[in-house]
Amino acid sequence: MSVLFVASEAYPLVKTGGLADVAGALPPALAEAGEDIRLLLPAYPQALDGVVNRRDGRSMGDPFGIGEVRLIEAQMPDSGLPVYLVDCPVLYRRDGGIYQQASGEDWPDNHARFALLSQIAARMGNPLEGGDWVPDILHLNDWQTGLAGAYLHYYGIKGVKTVFTIHNLRYQGQFDPSIMQVIALPQEAYGVNGIEFHGAVSYMKSALFFSDHITTVSRTYAQEIQTPEFGYGMEGLLQARAEDLYGIVNGIDYGIWNPETDRLIAQNYSIDSLDRKMANKRALQREMGLPVDDDAPLLGFVGRLTEQKGVDLIAENLQYIMSAGAQIVFLGTGDKRLEDFLKELSSSHARISARIMYNEEIAHRIIAGCDMFLMPSRFEPCGLTQMYALRYGTLPIVRRTGGLNDTVTDLNEKEGADGVVFDVPVPQALGKAIGRAITAWKDKNEWRQLQQNAMKKDFGWDRSAQEYIKIYRKPRRVRV
Ligand code: ADP
Repeated sequence: MSVLFVASEAYPLVKTGGLADVAGALPPALAEAGEDIRLLLPAYPQALDGVVNRRDGRSMGDPFGIGEVRLIEAQMPDSGLPVYLVDCPVLYRRDGGIYQQASGEDWPDNHARFALLSQIAARMGNPLEGGDWVPDILHLNDWQTGLAGAYLHYYGIKGVKTVFTIHNLRYQGQFDPSIMQVIALPQEAYGVNGIEFHGAVSYMKSALFFSDHITTVSRTYAQEIQTPEFGYGMEGLLQARAEDLYGIVNGIDYGIWNPETDRLIAQNYSIDSLDRKMANKRALQREMGLPVDDDAPLLGFVGRLTEQKGVDLIAENLQYIMSAGAQIVFLGTGDKRLEDFLKELSSSHARISARIMYNEEIAHRIIAGCDMFLMPSRFEPCGLTQMYALRYGTLPIVRRTGGLNDTVTDLNEKEGADGVVFDVPVPQALGKAIGRAITAWKDKNEWRQLQQNAMKKDFGWDRSAQEYIKIYRKPRRVRV
């Protein structure tokens, strides 16, 4: 079977979050398992610069009347996987973020930017377009690819199966109906049995409505999104599609996240040489300007500074963390208020240090150097960083939700305990969880056992890849 994996970001070319990690690692794992898989991404400047063996591909015409679109062919730099880049300079070649301008505002033409990605994906599935490689399956990811199923439907392209993966349901790609003038779909597409959702165009709704199969990135999240608390209005549609909805937990890339081989950290270590982990703690304390102190528990946070990630819950506990003699480091960008708050604390408290930036290398050193990793998310479709932390013997403190629930085992469990899990997203509950972690940390034997449990867990991509292959093999949905 041939599979076109379509995404708006992919590591190592462009990354804003977990989607890029998945798009960078899952396709090679699927190729390894025997699938004929290629990637489709927008030709952002970073993507054009990062790929190898770039060849000018064919023209895809001028589908939106804003300029010619070309399909550049290349290979991914690390895996060598074939990648197509949708080259439409007026939409993708610009400075700033891939979704947002430098000011933090979304690009005003995101509807066109990601409609085009979706349209090209759909047209690649059409043998009449003349491509020398035509996918049997479109594996679509998040709202940016959500219109692909609509294009297949309204353009009458048959024979292509669609699998849509929800990485985060919160972001839905909702736009004013006036965009119907721009996106080259017939006006009839704007309806209940189409891409309309409560008086707007919704790319996510389109995906959930038209895709043959829907997956999301953990079993718990697959259940949660069928409820109003996590469904963001899509719960009804998801309940209606529950038979076609699967939860497959992400893997992690052990080529990049492995304490035995990681070249970004001060000292490599393994499950058998955990004593060496301490060198990373000291190096991190020095790098972050904290007092070098083996006896102070060191907590870390890496991620987007947003309400989703529960950063405000951590903020409410800083006093308590200080009074427990601990230290804490933050790495992240996001909500301006949280950024300013952390910057201010970082300069006024010796045992709090924050880096308000995006930096892969520091992320590795925090995950290797800390004793505990905080992830008190309000919702978390899968979450990758807690899996990285487990791999590095840095025990996660997480809220029982989504992928966190599927990957971390609380210390009170008899078997496989490797972290602390709490239920209610309120500061007191997180405080108690931190307290439990610190108590366990003080018992060196208990802590060592927990670390070993954590490091033994297998989050390799091969297992997830096999589950995706099962879905690729399922028959297409019969629409009634
Ligand atoms: P999400 O996709 O919701 O942002 P995930 O945990 O699934 O969360 O993935 C986040 C990814 O982005 C991880 O690889 C994490 O290490 C990385 N990351 C997030 N913020 C930063 C940052 N400021 N610097 C470096 N890496 C970051």
